[in-house]
Amino acid sequence: MLLGAECPGCRAAGLGLCAECRRVLAERSVLGGVIAGVPWCAAAEYEGAWSHCLVAYKERRAWTLARPLGRALAWSVAGLLGGESRIALVPVPSAPAVVRQRGEDVTQRLAREASAALVRVGCDATVERALRQTRGVQDQAGLDVAGRRRNLAGSMVAVSARSVPVVVVDDISTTGATLEEGVRAMVAGGRHVIGTAVVAATRRRDGRPQAWMGGSGHRSTPAHGRDD
Ligand SMILES: [Zn+2]
Repeated sequence: MLLGAECPGCRAAGLGLCAECRRVLAERSVLGGVIAGVPWCAAAEYEGAWSHCLVAYKERRAWTLARPLGRALAWSVAGLLGGESRIALVPVPSAPAVVRQRGEDVTQRLAREASAALVRVGCDATVERALRQTRGVQDQAGLDVAGRRRNLAGSMVAVSARSVPVVVVDDISTTGATLEEGVRAMVAGGRHVIGTAVVAATRRRDGRPQAWMGGSGHRSTPAHGRDD
C-alpha cells in the first residue's frame, strides 16, 4: 500500500485527508434522543464522509482518523454534560476476536481521544474500561431491532465500582441496542449514567428516521462489524 497516497476517508488520490473529508469531519450536528431512559447524543448522521471515515478507521486501520473522530465524540459527550466536574467515558466492549482482527480496540481508542479533547477544555474526563462482555454475541448484521435486543440482553456486566458519573460511548449507533445494554449493565452495577454518546448515528434499518431525525431522506447502513 502506498502510504498517504489516498485520502483515508474516501480513497481519493492525494496526501492525507482530502479537503472534503476534512470539511465534513469539522462539522457538527445536534442529534439526540433517549436510550434506556437516559439522553444520547451524536455528532453527525452516519452518511457520506462520516461513514467513509468511520469504516476506514474501523476496518482499514486508518488510525490517523482517531483524532478527528475522537474530537467529534468529545463534542457529542459535551452535549450531555450539565456541570459535572468529573466524568468517566465507558466504551462499549468489543469481542476479543474483533479486536485482534482490527489490531486495536477502536472504540476504546476513540474514547481516549475524546477524553483528551475534553481535558483540553477543562473537563476532568477519564476513560474507564468498566464494561465487559459476559458471553459471545452473534454478529448483529441481519438482525432486526427485536433480534438485536435479544442477542445483546444480559451480554454485558459492569466490572468497576468507582463512583464517578458515566457516559457510555460507542462509535456508531444504528438501533441503540448496544448502548441500551451498556446503560443497563452500568445501572445494574450501581453507577450513575449521565447518558450515551456516539460519533455518528444511522437511520433505522427499516428506513424510518431515528427519533431525532426529521424528513424522509435516504438511509445509510454500516457495511461491517458490530454496528449498533
Ligand atoms: Zn476524502
